[in-house]
Amino acid sequence: MFIDTHCHIDSYERHAGENFDTLLARLPHDSDPAIMLPEAFIHVACDPADFDYARELSEKYGNVYAAYGIHPEYVETETPEDEARMLEMLKHPKCVACGEFGLDYHYGADTREAQTKLFERHLRLGIESGKPLVLHLREADDDALAILGNAPLKGVNVHVHCFTGTRDFAERLLALDANIFIGFTGIVTFKNAANVREAAEIVPDGQMLLETDAPYMAPVPYRGKPCHSGYIPYIAKTLAETRKTPVEEIYRLCRENTRRCYGI
Ligand SMILES: [Zn+2]
Repeated sequence: MFIDTHCHIDSYERHAGENFDTLLARLPHDSDPAIMLPEAFIHVACDPADFDYARELSEKYGNVYAAYGIHPEYVETETPEDEARMLEMLKHPKCVACGEFGLDYHYGADTREAQTKLFERHLRLGIESGKPLVLHLREADDDALAILGNAPLKGVNVHVHCFTGTRDFAERLLALDANIFIGFTGIVTFKNAANVREAAEIVPDGQMLLETDAPYMAPVPYRGKPCHSGYIPYIAKTLAETRKTPVEEIYRLCRENTRRCYGI
């Protein structure tokens, strides 16, 4: 069995026009036999406006856990009240992580300085919370590594989610003095993502995670469609081929890694 360690259920509902209950009911009967329902979901709320709904989802469904953070896209609108609410949410019993937060120079190249300041502050708050951290790092390798290298991360579980970098970036992340986990999404199946597969080859068995980042990044052959957690088998299959390992072994390792990273 597997857990989708990173998805945005509310965004899926908006994007696909289908509510979560309907999705859960139809997936076991999907015409594609590869599609499987995960055992559990980590729903990531990274817009303060969505925090309450995340709490509701996690209270309604026994197998939905939540993470709370503030995405770098809100760098210019984030308020001290948002941070205070995030810290409050981190105490909820179904909250398993702080995040996602980080740096995104793909969409936010013009706000680099503000992003690095915010990243340093969120990193400090996240570490103080004692929760695992979920990081969004996109096209900001050097700044991310410099900031992470200066942070007291020893013994802290860190999920670098939706890995899109190079093998070199993965190696430098893995060399940090922290419990680094690298999350692979549908991107690993994309034809033009050879760099991500090269990285997937060298991540140690005990440091990889399966995730969808739904509703984004649907794997081939569903690329471009709204992504849901039922597509994880396509990601696992590509990881297995890339690492020359039976797919059952990918599931076993990632399930165990999810337990060590998130405690579930
Ligand atoms: Zn995400």
